Amino acid sequence: MSTTSEAKASGRNIDKTRRARAHPDRPGADCQAAPASWQPVVDHARCEGKRDCVEVCPFDVFEVRKIDHRDYTALPFLARMKVRAHGQMTAYTPNADACQACGLCVVACPEHAIKLVRG
Ligand code: SF4
Repeated sequence: MSTTSEAKASGRNIDKTRRARAHPDRPGADCQAAPASWQPVVDHARCEGKRDCVEVCPFDVFEVRKIDHRDYTALPFLARMKVRAHGQMTAYTPNADACQACGLCVVACPEHAIKLVRG
Protein backbone atom coordinates (compact mmCIF):
# COMPACT_ATOMS: atom_id res chain seq x y z
CA MET A 1 0.00 0.00 0.00
CA SER A 2 1.34 3.48 -0.84
CA THR A 3 1.89 6.13 1.82
CA THR A 4 -1.10 8.09 0.46
CA SER A 5 -3.33 5.00 0.57
CA GLU A 6 -2.18 4.20 4.10
CA ALA A 7 -2.97 7.75 5.21
CA LYS A 8 -6.44 7.58 3.68
CA ALA A 9 -7.08 4.20 5.25
CA SER A 10 -6.16 5.52 8.68
CA GLY A 11 -8.19 8.74 8.29
CA ARG A 12 -5.12 10.96 8.00
CA ASN A 13 -5.16 14.03 5.78
CA ILE A 14 -2.02 14.56 3.67
CA ASP A 15 -2.66 18.25 2.93
CA LYS A 16 -3.37 19.18 6.55
CA THR A 17 -0.31 17.22 7.64
CA ARG A 18 1.87 19.01 5.09
CA ARG A 19 0.62 22.41 6.24
CA ALA A 20 1.17 21.51 9.89
CA ARG A 21 4.72 20.28 9.16
CA ALA A 22 5.56 23.65 7.59
CA HIS A 23 4.05 25.69 10.42
CA PRO A 24 6.71 27.95 11.98
CA ASP A 25 5.28 27.56 15.50
CA ARG A 26 5.27 23.76 15.57
CA PRO A 27 6.43 22.73 19.06
CA GLY A 28 7.91 19.46 20.28
CA ALA A 29 10.84 17.36 19.17
CA ASP A 30 10.19 16.81 15.45
CA CYS A 31 9.05 13.21 16.00
CA GLN A 32 12.43 12.32 17.55
CA ALA A 33 11.20 11.98 21.13
CA ALA A 34 11.00 8.64 22.89
CA PRO A 35 7.40 7.47 23.13
CA ALA A 36 5.68 8.75 26.29
CA SER A 37 8.35 11.39 27.01
CA TRP A 38 5.85 14.05 25.84
CA GLN A 39 2.07 14.07 25.99
CA PRO A 40 -0.63 16.02 24.17
CA VAL A 41 -3.15 17.64 26.50
CA VAL A 42 -6.60 18.57 25.19
CA ASP A 43 -8.51 21.55 26.60
CA HIS A 44 -12.12 20.34 26.44
CA ALA A 45 -13.35 23.90 26.91
CA ARG A 46 -11.79 24.82 23.55
CA CYS A 47 -12.10 21.59 21.57
CA GLU A 48 -14.96 21.50 19.05
CA GLY A 49 -14.37 17.92 17.91
CA LYS A 50 -13.25 18.94 14.42
CA ARG A 51 -10.88 15.95 14.13
CA ASP A 52 -7.85 17.80 12.74
CA CYS A 53 -5.73 16.08 15.43
CA VAL A 54 -6.97 12.68 14.27
CA GLU A 55 -6.19 13.61 10.66
CA VAL A 56 -2.57 14.67 11.25
CA CYS A 57 -1.25 12.48 14.07
CA PRO A 58 1.08 9.84 12.61
CA PHE A 59 0.73 7.62 15.69
CA ASP A 60 -3.07 7.48 16.06
CA VAL A 61 -2.96 9.09 19.50
CA PHE A 62 -6.41 10.72 19.25
CA GLU A 63 -10.03 9.76 19.05
CA VAL A 64 -13.01 12.13 18.91
CA ARG A 65 -16.06 11.01 20.84
CA LYS A 66 -18.75 12.25 23.18
CA ILE A 67 -17.28 14.07 26.17
CA ASP A 68 -17.22 12.09 29.42
CA HIS A 69 -19.85 13.27 31.92
CA ARG A 70 -17.17 14.05 34.50
CA ASP A 71 -15.22 16.23 32.05
CA TYR A 72 -18.42 17.94 30.92
CA THR A 73 -19.59 18.84 34.40
CA ALA A 74 -16.11 20.15 35.30
CA LEU A 75 -16.35 22.82 32.59
CA PRO A 76 -17.50 26.39 33.26
CA PHE A 77 -21.08 27.20 32.18
CA LEU A 78 -20.16 28.95 28.90
CA ALA A 79 -17.80 26.14 27.91
CA ARG A 80 -20.58 23.59 28.58
CA MET A 81 -22.86 25.57 26.25
CA LYS A 82 -20.15 25.59 23.58
CA VAL A 83 -19.60 21.84 23.94
CA ARG A 84 -23.34 21.26 23.59
CA ALA A 85 -23.40 23.39 20.44
CA HIS A 86 -20.86 21.01 18.93
CA GLY A 87 -22.74 17.84 19.72
CA GLN A 88 -20.73 17.21 22.90
CA MET A 89 -17.91 15.81 20.77
CA THR A 90 -14.34 16.29 21.93
CA ALA A 91 -10.87 14.81 21.47
CA TYR A 92 -9.31 12.26 23.81
CA THR A 93 -5.86 10.70 23.74
CA PRO A 94 -6.31 6.96 24.33
CA ASN A 95 -2.93 6.26 22.72
CA ALA A 96 -0.97 9.10 24.36
CA ASP A 97 1.98 6.82 25.15
CA ALA A 98 2.69 6.56 21.41
CA CYS A 99 3.26 10.32 21.04
CA GLN A 100 6.71 11.21 19.69
CA ALA A 101 6.26 14.98 19.93
CA CYS A 102 6.02 15.91 16.27
CA GLY A 103 3.83 18.86 17.31
CA LEU A 104 1.51 18.47 14.30
CA CYS A 105 -1.66 18.28 16.38
CA VAL A 106 -0.85 21.50 18.22
CA VAL A 107 -0.59 23.64 15.10
CA ALA A 108 -3.29 21.78 13.16
CA CYS A 109 -6.02 22.37 15.76
CA PRO A 110 -8.09 25.35 14.60
CA GLU A 111 -9.28 25.96 18.17
CA HIS A 112 -5.81 25.96 19.77
CA ALA A 113 -7.12 23.29 22.11
CA ILE A 114 -3.99 21.10 22.30
CA LYS A 115 -0.71 21.67 24.04
CA LEU A 116 2.29 19.39 24.23
CA VAL A 117 3.85 18.82 27.63
CA ARG A 118 6.88 16.83 28.73
CA GLY A 119 6.41 13.55 30.56
S1 SF4 B 1 2.63 15.63 18.92
FE1 SF4 B 1 2.13 13.53 19.51
S2 SF4 B 1 -0.11 13.46 19.61
FE2 SF4 B 1 0.45 15.33 18.45
S3 SF4 B 1 0.40 14.67 16.29
FE3 SF4 B 1 2.52 14.40 17.02
S4 SF4 B 1 2.66 12.26 17.72
FE4 SF4 B 1 0.47 12.79 17.54
